[in-house]
Amino acid sequence: MSEDSIYQQLRANLAYLRLHAAAEALPLELDEAMKHKLSHSAFLKRLLDTEVSATEARRRESLERFARLPAPWRIEDFDFDAQPTVDKAMVNELVTLRFLEDATNVLFIGPPGVGKTMLAVALGRASIDAGYRTYYTTAADLAARCHRAALEGRWATTMRFFAGPRLLIVDEVGYLPLAQEAAASLFQVISQRYLKGSVCLTTNLGVGSWGKIFNDDPNVAAAMLDRLLHRSVVFNINGESYRMRAHRARAARLRPRPKPDGDG
Ligand code: ADP
Ligand code: MG
Repeated sequence: MSEDSIYQQLRANLAYLRLHAAAEALPLELDEAMKHKLSHSAFLKRLLDTEVSATEARRRESLERFARLPAPWRIEDFDFDAQPTVDKAMVNELVTLRFLEDATNVLFIGPPGVGKTMLAVALGRASIDAGYRTYYTTAADLAARCHRAALEGRWATTMRFFAGPRLLIVDEVGYLPLAQEAAASLFQVISQRYLKGSVCLTTNLGVGSWGKIFNDDPNVAAAMLDRLLHRSVVFNINGESYRMRAHRARAARLRPRPKPDGDG
């Protein structure tokens, strides 16, 4: 077999095995190997490295698309000095993602604007970066999706979908009261993940007021909280809104300074 047909056959084999990155890199890597007199194993390692990198990049991209994070926030963007009620050490511990190992839940509770979504998204980002399947949704979207699924006979599939991700973020629980059916779907999603997969949930309502979310059905609220809190890390954030704070700081800068009285 001539060198040339060996080369052609090799390229064809790589393509057949769907090692497209390696197939593409082949001519260049052969040149490099020749030029630097690389050993067979060194050459093969370099060639396969290109395929591994390409596979990793694809995987990352697909995790990224799947997660639907609403913003690019990272934990480094969070200003802990502005929100002293957030335990920085605890957040840093969460970012190690050890909490995913035993399906610990994370609750961010607090009024609007204090950074609940930002923290939840930053955790989601860390989780994607570590290669975990992550999914972001709001409570309202989750409810709407379950509602459609029930109508279209896809309830079981949808429940499996919400059981799948290693980390499920449910944002904005409690902003709108959930109709009974919506509350039931949220309850089922939480129940089936119980002790199996972490939920990171944000809410503007302290757990004492959760009855309100569920149309004053204290039983559903209690059962849900039971599962959520059993193994959990809870942040009660009660600082002021970050936006308001930024707004006030800007206003203060614009306000004319009082003239120092008496000029000596
Ligand atoms: P919440 O979900 O609690 O209503 P968000 O997380 O949406 O609040 O935060 C509101 C806005 O303020 C966002 O643009 C967010 O990036 C910013 N923000 C809130 N807290 C902080 C913080 N501690 N450091 C930096 N930005 C913050
Ligand atoms: Mg929010």
